[in-house]
Amino acid sequence: MKIICSVCQKSKPSLVCSACHSPVCKHCAQFIDVDSFTYAPERLAKIRSQYTDGVFCSVCFENHIAAEVNEYETTLAEAKKVSVFFKKHSKETRLIKRREEIVRVVDCPDYDEAILRLAFQAAKVKCNALIDVILDSKKMNVGTYTHAKWSGNGRPARVDEKVLTHDRMVIGNPN
Ligand SMILES: [Zn+2]
Ligand SMILES: [Zn+2]
Repeated sequence: MKIICSVCQKSKPSLVCSACHSPVCKHCAQFIDVDSFTYAPERLAKIRSQYTDGVFCSVCFENHIAAEVNEYETTLAEAKKVSVFFKKHSKETRLIKRREEIVRVVDCPDYDEAILRLAFQAAKVKCNALIDVILDSKKMNVGTYTHAKWSGNGRPARVDEKVLTHDRMVIGNPN
C-alpha cells in the first residue's frame, strides 16, 4: 500500500500530524514553532507540551490550533496600538487610574522589541496604554561584539481613546 498525504492525497508524506498522527506532506503540514508565538512563549510551550513536534494536518490545525493563533494575532495587533507613556511623562498621565499590576521585560535584544513585549502584556489584560514606562539597556560583550540588552517595566492602563487622539505618544526611542 502506498502511503499518501492525508490532506492533498497526492504527495508522499514525510511528516506525521502531532494530533491525529496521520501522514502529511511538507507542503500541507502547518507548523507551530517559536515564530508562531514570539510574544507569548507560554502559549508555544503549552501547545508543544501537548503536541510535541508542532506539526499539524489542516483538519487538526483548524480544530485545535487556529483559534489560539487568531487570538494571539488579535492581541498582537492590539499591542501595536497601545500608547506608551514614559515615567518622565508622569505629569501627563497623573490622572490615569493605576489599577493593573506592573509588567516587566528582561534582556530584550532591542528597544522596539522591549516596548512591544510590554505592550503585548498590556493588550493581554485589555489595556490600551502603558504608563510609567522605564527602559534601560546594558551593554553585553559577546566575543568581540558589544550589544545592548533592554529591560524595564510599565503599568498597563485603560485610557479614553478621545483623550489619546490629542496626546498620543508614538512608540519611539526616548533618547
Ligand atoms: Zn499534502
Ligand atoms: Zn491531524
